[in-house]
Amino acid sequence: MNLPQISAIPITMLCLAMTLVAGCVKIQATSPPVVSKRIQMHMGTLVTVTAVASNKNVGDGAVQAAFHEIKRLEQLLSTWRSDSELSQVNAEAGRRPVQVSRETLQLIIRALDIAELTHGGFNIALGPAIDAWSVTERQRIPDKEELGGLKPLVDWTSIQVNGEQRTIYLPHKGMRIDVGGIGKGYAADRAVEKMKQAGAMGGVVALSGDIKTFGVLPERRGFPVGIRHPRQEGALIAMIDLTDEAISTAGDYERFFDRDGIRYHHILDPQTLWPARTCQSVTVIAKEGTVADGLDTGIFVLGPEQGMALVERLPDVEAIIIDDKGKMTVSSGLRDRLRAP
Ligand code: ADP
Ligand code: MG
Repeated sequence: MNLPQISAIPITMLCLAMTLVAGCVKIQATSPPVVSKRIQMHMGTLVTVTAVASNKNVGDGAVQAAFHEIKRLEQLLSTWRSDSELSQVNAEAGRRPVQVSRETLQLIIRALDIAELTHGGFNIALGPAIDAWSVTERQRIPDKEELGGLKPLVDWTSIQVNGEQRTIYLPHKGMRIDVGGIGKGYAADRAVEKMKQAGAMGGVVALSGDIKTFGVLPERRGFPVGIRHPRQEGALIAMIDLTDEAISTAGDYERFFDRDGIRYHHILDPQTLWPARTCQSVTVIAKEGTVADGLDTGIFVLGPEQGMALVERLPDVEAIIIDDKGKMTVSSGLRDRLRAP
């Protein structure tokens, strides 16, 4: 997914409107809102943070607050750092429940809700299978026996969450939780909260294809975001303006390798423990990044028909699904909102 296209010019139109409204009460000379933007590398990806604020100090402070929050979450949720809470939960699999922060507990509960909604298409217990494939590092195809042996370890329904004790227990040795399919969306949500607290009036947090927006860009109705073509590098299939919404895309073009003309990518079908086969990309728009990010992965596994049926049932959730043949389906609430790139 392309990063949001954001104008860097201070905007005069919005100010004009503000002056007109303010003019009835008190005439005040205000300077136009400014846009601050910075890009850094976090969570293994390029993160772009854009803030709209009344002045440069507030905008820069909001951008900094967002990056600070993303760094904090990277530490909290990573499973490659052995000192993170989730690594401890994983290390104690089959042995004992591990107490975690309220925040980690809440995120795991929400991830399990999305697993429920997508009938296990989204599955945070897939860690061992994701490791077996490690699509970007090793490019090897695990054999039937190896994957068969992992099956009992990827059962998300066996994860035990105790809200009172604030513990998570993985009952079988070798089980592992991996929040890779939801963590970036969650980080985008949290970072936006920090930007609001820092006084920004609008902004975007984009962790590559996981994007959360709030407020508006001066002189525009929302933040324009492009939706990537899954098979033409650099091309867009559509544009959409977002306001106080998140968008997230799961695609088979993000991390993959080709072997004998077959594409092996990073989104696994928990039933087969092989890469999910029925979609090229799934883009979800929701109020929260956590929901959009979790659902895009889950719907990618569910496939176009079941996936779109789920989207139509859920309030405030829209989607664009491109199936394995390249056919695009758009949910009913989105048809009037997409525009040509
Ligand atoms: P990203 O935004 O990093 O591309 P996605 O939202 O597309 O992430 O989710 C893909 C990641 O989620 C994978 O890299 C893997 O860590 C994890 N994953 C793969 N398959 C599933 C699945 N069926 N359910 C939950 N997580 C998955
Ligand atoms: Mg996802």
